[in-house]
Amino acid sequence: MKKPVIAIDGYSSTGKSSISKVIAKKLGLLHLDTGALYRGITYYALIFCKNPDGSIDWEQLFKDFSKIHLDFQKVGEELLLNLNGKDISVEIRTQEISDLVSIVAKQPEVRNFLLNTQRNIAQKGGVIMDGRDIGTVVLPNADIKFFMTASIVERTKRRFHELQTMGIEAQVEEVMQNLITRDKIDSEREIAPLKQAEDAILIDNSRMDKKQTIDLMLSYIQKLGY
Ligand code: C5P
Repeated sequence: MKKPVIAIDGYSSTGKSSISKVIAKKLGLLHLDTGALYRGITYYALIFCKNPDGSIDWEQLFKDFSKIHLDFQKVGEELLLNLNGKDISVEIRTQEISDLVSIVAKQPEVRNFLLNTQRNIAQKGGVIMDGRDIGTVVLPNADIKFFMTASIVERTKRRFHELQTMGIEAQVEEVMQNLITRDKIDSEREIAPLKQAEDAILIDNSRMDKKQTIDLMLSYIQKLGY
């Protein structure tokens, strides 16, 4: 049977990636966490493209695209992100990266560079991709699209818990502020802003746990015969 192409967009920490991972496993799809790619570019910029005053040297970053190779490697259940062969999966989750990633992601050059990477991966079909502009820009012809939201309090709890699990120290207030700021920058940027595609199904999981959210989304997918 033909496998679906599924697009999942939505606000930060609504569970997009962890839910996509489970659905991918259940349906035998490839899962691509596109936020990790933007975080990977941000990590590269912070290490290799800084001006003496600490700001990002954008021209240097754009010139370096040909030297940046980001790919995912499946190790057991985990999908690790490699930058030029080095695993950077934990490094990309730090507060420093979270604070900068939306500024990096709003640069048209960065979006263009990653657009090709993402579309190439989806070409083979049988993929579930999560991000901010998947249903609207990256995969406008996806077989099914979801748009996820949840209350800011619930999302803060989830992100805080995720960071704790990874052994990354954080303050609750700081985590909440970062989610609010990122969602604002992501929604207001000129190119490929975060917004619900007209044909996306809205999922508000403020009062749902992970399993309930997955079951609901699977029911929509199965209704389409997948
Ligand atoms: O999904 P995650 O929270 O890790 O994404 C980090 C950031 O990457 C987002 O806040 C957004 O600025 C950017 N992003 C994007 N487009 C995507 C995925 C992520 O702009 N498709």
